Amino acid sequence: MSTCIPVVENILSANDRLAAENRAIFDKAGVFAINLMASPGAGKTSLVERTVEGLAGRLRLGVIEGDLASSLDADRAAAAGAAAVQINTGGECHLDAVMLHAALPQLDLKSLDLLIVENVGNLVCPTSFKLGVHCNILIASTPEGDDKPYKYPGSYRGIDALVINKIDLLPYVDFDMQNFRRGVEMLNPGVMTFPLSCRTGEGLDAWLDWLAAQVKNRA
Ligand code: MG
Ligand code: ZN
Repeated sequence: MSTCIPVVENILSANDRLAAENRAIFDKAGVFAINLMASPGAGKTSLVERTVEGLAGRLRLGVIEGDLASSLDADRAAAAGAAAVQINTGGECHLDAVMLHAALPQLDLKSLDLLIVENVGNLVCPTSFKLGVHCNILIASTPEGDDKPYKYPGSYRGIDALVINKIDLLPYVDFDMQNFRRGVEMLNPGVMTFPLSCRTGEGLDAWLDWLAAQVKNRA
């Protein structure tokens, strides 16, 4: 009955080894890497677009897009001005360190300051697979509802920063910001939080300045 547990542990420890290799590659190339996680439709690719546009001229950006299929998101990131690579997971609902490792040679990492990895839209298993990035970021969005920290605690616990997207929709959706923040605070006290709207641009500057500072501090 418990035979699958050692198998899962082996997969995860093999993943951890490759994640450490990925980290060493990033550090050697001098690139700061972040992992964006969210449920489908929260605005990961919109945030990638706004971030690429907003940091143009300040930082050199690369983007790796993880999706089940298609190159739609890499096309959007490239159109915004980033060096972009698409990973199609072929049905896997998360990125792992192996997939990321295989994609890295497609980018000239030495020519980049910041690498944004957009994970597959999923609030469950991406948190179990380390990628080797320096910073894990979760994007929540107001139409999803304020109960998500209570229902998906694992995705809020391990993160280094939280973006709350679509704050322009607050008047139209049932999203109790206090209840949401209370749930986040229980799981991840004091986590850096950026309420913003990719559509109107409200709150974006704080996010961009913080991210640019992270890149600078680790350089
Ligand atoms: Mg996307
Ligand atoms: Zn998965």
